[in-house]
Amino acid sequence: MKTVVLIDDEHGFRRLLTSLLATHGWEVFEAQDGEEGIALALQKKPDVVMCDLLMPRCNGFQVCRTLRAQMGPRSNTKIVVTTGSAYATDRLNAFEAGADEYITKPIRADDLVAMLERITSLVNPPVESGLETPLLDPHSGTVVRFWGVRGSISTPGPGTLFYGGNTSCVEVRADGELVILDAGTGIRSLGLSLQQEFGSRPFRVTILISHTHWDHIQGFPFFVPAYYPSNEVHLMAFEGARRGLEATLASQMESPYFPISMQQMPGHLAIHELRDLDFKVGTLPVLASFMNHPGVCAGYRLNTRSGCVVYMPDNELLPRKSEAGGATTEASNFMEERDQRLLDFLRDAEVAMMDAQYDATEYATHAGWGHSCVDDVVDLAVRANVRRLFLFHHDPDHTDAKIAQMLAGARALATTMQSSIIIEAAREGMEIRLALPK
Ligand SMILES: [Zn+2]
Ligand SMILES: [Zn+2]
Repeated sequence: MKTVVLIDDEHGFRRLLTSLLATHGWEVFEAQDGEEGIALALQKKPDVVMCDLLMPRCNGFQVCRTLRAQMGPRSNTKIVVTTGSAYATDRLNAFEAGADEYITKPIRADDLVAMLERITSLVNPPVESGLETPLLDPHSGTVVRFWGVRGSISTPGPGTLFYGGNTSCVEVRADGELVILDAGTGIRSLGLSLQQEFGSRPFRVTILISHTHWDHIQGFPFFVPAYYPSNEVHLMAFEGARRGLEATLASQMESPYFPISMQQMPGHLAIHELRDLDFKVGTLPVLASFMNHPGVCAGYRLNTRSGCVVYMPDNELLPRKSEAGGATTEASNFMEERDQRLLDFLRDAEVAMMDAQYDATEYATHAGWGHSCVDDVVDLAVRANVRRLFLFHHDPDHTDAKIAQMLAGARALATTMQSSIIIEAAREGMEIRLALPK
């Protein structure tokens, strides 16, 4: 028997539809608002979710986005949005949010039943079993490779040859998983390299996005593995402040900006909107923490079996010295709490990549821009007992000479703190290997 979860705040409409569908052999589960409907749909995994567009607590767009994110791209549950509104933009937005059909009330019984039969006859084949097995050796330790280390905008040219001009992208291989941190312009070369390495063997990759500022997503349309139908590409991030994650990522591939839309990418592309700060990529446990940066921006801590790798590409640390300068008790308590949260997040990391965009002089005129002063970064990393700190998200105006000078300053500061921390400035092509503990 086919099943449908019916989400609508109008009791009369639910009763009518339930008896209609029951006479055509459907089993109906009812929910009176979006939140209840999402929970019911995730529990029942029905053939169809029918949801009203305008409901209290959680509207139809949110229901679509949440179900698509949580059920994954290969789910066979179809979503039908029902509405009293015939606005073309609503219709478009519903499809963008993940609806399969959009129908306006009043609904003709015969049309509805025929449509439900039609859409539920189209089902995805099960996932090829080979891809469920990690292709990487889970016993080979952790590898971190830098493919893009620049902040804000890519900066090729003679002044950036040594550290590199591509924007944020870091590859991490750990515990059998292939993870990419951010999809800045560096991901283009990484994609080509992966395709060369794996050849015709399909593979699975998870891209963790810190936030959707350009310098962290702009390379994605050029990520070649997403154009091979046999590969599986998972994109994970927290929802931005204004739009659903999928809509934000897809919009940079709309026709005025790019010739191929995200929907046309032939690879298996799954967009997962993160909800919890604590989650897993395959078997790899990951912890997220929200950063001090405009919009919704996360840092990630990958707890690999060979040590913790922390990625904090965009974050403004507030200088601790300002606490002393007449701050209110509430303000200094807040600072203290934030400092403690970051210390816990970074604690004992084997590798930490941290936004260190400015030197002290530059920070004085860039406070509130969402990026840190290198001195504050060193101070925090030393206190958190980080073993290897990589200065990251280099300013587009900084030449190789300037970065080298900042690195020297950072190392000198660590020495005055009597710390044995290893500090490097992240550089394209740099590779770090962490062995599994014996
Ligand atoms: Zn950035
Ligand atoms: Zn940013």
